[in-house]
Amino acid sequence: MGACLNCKKELIGRADKVFCDAYCKSSFHYKKKQGEKKSIFESIDKQLKTNRRLLKLFNKAGKAVVRKEELLAEGFNPKYFTHYWKNTKGEVYLFCYEFGFLEKQENNKAKYVLVKWQDYMK
Ligand SMILES: [Zn+2]
Repeated sequence: MGACLNCKKELIGRADKVFCDAYCKSSFHYKKKQGEKKSIFESIDKQLKTNRRLLKLFNKAGKAVVRKEELLAEGFNPKYFTHYWKNTKGEVYLFCYEFGFLEKQENNKAKYVLVKWQDYMK
């Protein structure tokens, strides 16, 4: 006979039992769900920080143009960003905190124009 998956108390009764009662069963599944929610938060948080670190690394001068694949190879994921800014031409820059990027096609190659957040973008 094993122990309850929730409270670790020794189980009495049917051999296939894994929880002592309905309370332990729902408590276990609730805690498991909370854990999964946390991991989604953590993985998005981690990706945003990776994106920010890479944008910062490739944009030391405040403005830069890099090949898209170069950033992607480093682990950059353009689906994750914190906010956006649209310029007067209607181009939408996506930002990860204070570092932004805009995808552009140049000679059939995908590039990113990198910028830094400015006060006038508010
Ligand atoms: Zn239990």
